[in-house]
Amino acid sequence: MNAAVVDNGGVHVVEAAMCPLCGASGRVRYGQLRDRSWGAPGTWSFRECVACSHLWLDPCPIAEEIGRPYASYYTHGVERRSPLKGDGFWTKCRRGVLDSYGYRGLAHDSTERFLGQAMRFVPPVWEECEETVHSVPGPPRGLLLDIGCGDGYFLRIMRDLGWTVQGLEPDPKAAAFARAYGLDIIQSPIERASLPSNAFDVITTSHVIEHVLEPVTFLSLARRALRPDGLLYVFTPNAESWGHAMFGPSWYPLEPPRHLHIFRPRNLVACAERAGLQVVDVRTTGRLHLFFDASVSIHKTGQYRFDDPTIHASVFDRLFRVTENLLVHVHPYAGEEIVMRCTNAARG
Ligand SMILES: [Zn+2]
Repeated sequence: MNAAVVDNGGVHVVEAAMCPLCGASGRVRYGQLRDRSWGAPGTWSFRECVACSHLWLDPCPIAEEIGRPYASYYTHGVERRSPLKGDGFWTKCRRGVLDSYGYRGLAHDSTERFLGQAMRFVPPVWEECEETVHSVPGPPRGLLLDIGCGDGYFLRIMRDLGWTVQGLEPDPKAAAFARAYGLDIIQSPIERASLPSNAFDVITTSHVIEHVLEPVTFLSLARRALRPDGLLYVFTPNAESWGHAMFGPSWYPLEPPRHLHIFRPRNLVACAERAGLQVVDVRTTGRLHLFFDASVSIHKTGQYRFDDPTIHASVFDRLFRVTENLLVHVHPYAGEEIVMRCTNAARG
């Protein structure tokens, strides 16, 4: 592409008037957006494709600038204790749920096992417990790669549960933080990582694909690294969600200028298929903390800082999650987060 590089408040950008997925034109859905969280410069918009309804950031930072708009602001690592250790009621619930999710032996006693079984009938609690392992059921079965592993919090949980884990993380400070916990981290973006082929039993990538310039290339590289019988789990914000409909331009996951794409479930599926993956299932959940609180804050003040991942959600945020986790049983694509599972289509 030879689009002219221009300056947008100090960020080098190119115009992105055409849909990055299908090439059709896009109308401006939200204009005049500023960074709401980390004070990155520039004025941004989101366009919506007239053909496939994909949402994307316009203008688009050039490849060398991706990552720069938050290099000096983003939280690179936070001390957090394991969500599976302790004696609180919710910790007992979580151990019980994961025990019945294939991680046998995790529940400490029959009370916890009972709680785990009972929560099958309480979907909002089950969803939140399942989030601890990014919806990867037990038992642990080999090598797990997390693409965009950040400070390695999720990998530490999975290692404790018995997986052999590896992480991929472009941010040097986050990678160093993860390595301090003895984790095996490749510090690189996936495009330059030269991952081994057919190597991983499970690959997870949580809230990463919306940051990459070329999602199909990203998924193709993940597919190559996946074993023929392996599973890839992709998580990303959902443009069709109830929260997006409610909050519009104040919806927190738009995150200009760091989110380049906001997918609809069907468009994410189309990307996976173009990457040679076979989609097993795609669903949405309302389990992500603070989406509601953050969107309310942006609506009222124009800002929200996600400084501390251990911050407590308001009662309204909890209520929103509970309601949405029930709503998705009626409207499967109403949740804030898409969860897509894929296999390697080349298999067999
Ligand atoms: Zn399109």
